[in-house]
Amino acid sequence: MEKRKGLVLVYTGNGKGKTTAALGLALRSIGHGRHVFMVQFKKSDSSYGEIQAISKYLPDFRVLQSGKNKMSSDGALVEDERSVVLDGFNQGKEALVSGEYDLVIFDEINVVMDHGQLTVQEVKDMLSLRPEHVDVVLTGRNAPEEIVNIADLVSEVQEIKHYFHAGVKARAGVEF
Ligand code: ATP
Ligand code: MG
Repeated sequence: MEKRKGLVLVYTGNGKGKTTAALGLALRSIGHGRHVFMVQFKKSDSSYGEIQAISKYLPDFRVLQSGKNKMSSDGALVEDERSVVLDGFNQGKEALVSGEYDLVIFDEINVVMDHGQLTVQEVKDMLSLRPEHVDVVLTGRNAPEEIVNIADLVSEVQEIKHYFHAGVKARAGVEF
C-alpha cells in the first residue's frame, strides 16, 4: 500500500460551516481508528454540543479550549491575550510533534493570525514540524495568503444567506 502522507487542509470564508466541517472530518477519522487533537481558539465554553459529545462518546478525540471569547460593550470580540493563545498553540504543537495524533485541528487559528495574536511564521514553523502521517486542519475566516499558498487544500465557505440577518438567534445544536 502507498505510504500515507499527511496534508494541510484549510477551511475559511465568511459562511457558516468551517468548524463543523472540521468536526465532521474528525468524526470520520475516528471511525477509522485514528486519534484526533483539536485546539479551539476563541472559545472557552464547554457547553458547546461538540465538547459535550466528545467527552461523553469519543475518547480518541482530545480537545483543548484556549480563549476567553468575551464581548466588549460594542459587541466586538475582545482580543485574547497573547499568552492564552500561545499556551493553546504550544499544547497543540506538542500534540502534533508527539506523533500520537493522526489529525490535529487548530480551530479559528486563521482569525488568531488575522488578529496578530500568532504570526504566520509561527504557524508555518509548526506545520513544518509535523510527522509524515499527521493531517492538520486550520479553520477560520480570513486565512492569510501565505497559509493558502502552502496548504494542500483550501475550501472557502461563502455566505449566500444567513438567518442571522433575519434576526434568528444562535441555537443549541446548530450554532453551539
Ligand atoms: P460553524 O461552527 O457553525 O461551522 P463557522 O465555524 O463556519 O460555523 P464562525 O465564523 O466560526 O463560523 O462563526 C461561528 C458561528 O457564528 C457560526 O455558527 C455561525 O452561524 C455564526 N455566524 C456566522 N456569521 C454570523 C453573523 N454575521 N452574525 C452572527 N453570527 C454569525
Ligand atoms: Mg468556526
